Amino acid sequence: MTAQTELQDPSAGRSECWCCGVVEDPDRFVHLGNHPEVTVCTRCAHSLHTWAWELEDQAKTGPAVRARDAFRRLRAHGMEHGWHHNRVIGKPLRWLGKHLP
Ligand SMILES: [Zn+2]
Repeated sequence: MTAQTELQDPSAGRSECWCCGVVEDPDRFVHLGNHPEVTVCTRCAHSLHTWAWELEDQAKTGPAVRARDAFRRLRAHGMEHGWHHNRVIGKPLRWLGKHLP
């Protein structure tokens, strides 16, 4: 019965990210604490972390906050111009983007 369901619906037994809609195995998702039915893919979970950090920085001041804001502006500028897709500098920029605020 289950095999037949999987044949009819290839997404059966898989979960969908509530943020971007990607469908993957349930083991590859982050579940919210009080609402485990809400699942987020790891890529969106990392983005949520970054956005949460940015929100926290809005209530702070200091040189570290200014440096993180400068990195965010630089990232936004690079994304607008598509530098992250460049054949030469795209890969290092994407790597940096994962490790900077
Ligand atoms: Zn997602």
